[in-house]
Amino acid sequence: MSRTVKRAFKFRFYPTDVQAAELSRTFGCVRLVYNMALQARTEAWTLRQARIDYNATSALLTAWKKIDDLEFLNEVSSVPLQQALRHLQTAFTNFWAKRTNHPTFKSKRRSRRSAEYTTSAFRWRDEKLTLAKMSQPLDIVWSRPLPAGCSPSTVTVSQDAAGRWFVSLLCEDVIAETSATRRVGIDAGLNSLLTLSTGEKVTNPRYERADRERLARAQRNLARKQKGSANRAKARIKVARIYGRMADRRRDHLHKLTTRLVRENQTIVIEDLTVCNMVKNHRLARAISDAAWRQLRTMLEYKAAWYGRDLVVVDRWFPSSKLCSACGALAGSMPLNVREWTCRCGTIHDRDVNAARNILAAGLAVTACGDSVRPQRGSSRSGQLSAKQEDPRVTTGVPVR
Ligand SMILES: [Zn+2]
Repeated sequence: MSRTVKRAFKFRFYPTDVQAAELSRTFGCVRLVYNMALQARTEAWTLRQARIDYNATSALLTAWKKIDDLEFLNEVSSVPLQQALRHLQTAFTNFWAKRTNHPTFKSKRRSRRSAEYTTSAFRWRDEKLTLAKMSQPLDIVWSRPLPAGCSPSTVTVSQDAAGRWFVSLLCEDVIAETSATRRVGIDAGLNSLLTLSTGEKVTNPRYERADRERLARAQRNLARKQKGSANRAKARIKVARIYGRMADRRRDHLHKLTTRLVRENQTIVIEDLTVCNMVKNHRLARAISDAAWRQLRTMLEYKAAWYGRDLVVVDRWFPSSKLCSACGALAGSMPLNVREWTCRCGTIHDRDVNAARNILAAGLAVTACGDSVRPQRGSSRSGQLSAKQEDPRVTTGVPVR
């Protein structure tokens, strides 16, 4: 059995000066249109309790293009601007469904610089990609092969904080389905990245700690530099480079891990740790593990859909750490530093493995009762992607290996 799925392939590319200028201009316009539409929607709601939908913002965009001061909006391809309005619509849909926070304005410095092109805004010929408003194809580094004969339906161009350019191509690909019968529960933690109900502990890669220290050092160095100075700009790029490399390595690690989990198991149960639920914590280690967990969940969601697996998301309502997975007794208080405990029934538990087993049991109960054990905020089964910060198609370009 095999199935056809949409899959993003991400590559680096090196723009000419003209292309770089055109793309930078486009990024700026995308950000401006997104922010203006967000402002219009927010004002309509606060002043008149009116909801402005995508079509209304699209009409607004047409009007903005006729204003003298905004004439430059006509100079870039109109497709990325329309796509920005669609992204805003998705952001509001997720917000209304209580999956994410209210959309925020895109900042020139902190937000991701990107532009999305649909088929009417690029040409794909002889494996060469030419974007609207450009005469030359992009100089792409084809670091891995695209599926044979594929033709991208969406193309996303982005630039990271370290100044590297990327293009992501959404293509149809064929996934060979394999069968699996195993089931697994996953507990997210700080000490080990994940603990599985099988007893396996997945740790952070060894280089993670060194990377993290390097990042902290670069950040301290940046904080010492005077605002607006050339040295500060240099220090900022250094931080961005380290961060970018860490993100690359983490993504790579998570891809391998999620592919293995999805290949080996028919049912995967995870906890619902959405951003809204998470305690805001500014500690670096915590922030990084939270980001890794979000990324892991997104990858599990779409890969489970690809391979026809069940991803069950259980709400964090039950005391997974305190409940004995052998006899069901509830232990007393369980401070975070307790790594191992003995239940009244005599079972000695590793805290995280026990939690993972309880998560698996809760997930299986959910599937047995037809998803009705407890109302979920988002969808609880795979196949319906939910609760995400970013479009996984565009942000997770590395294919399964
Ligand atoms: Zn027990």
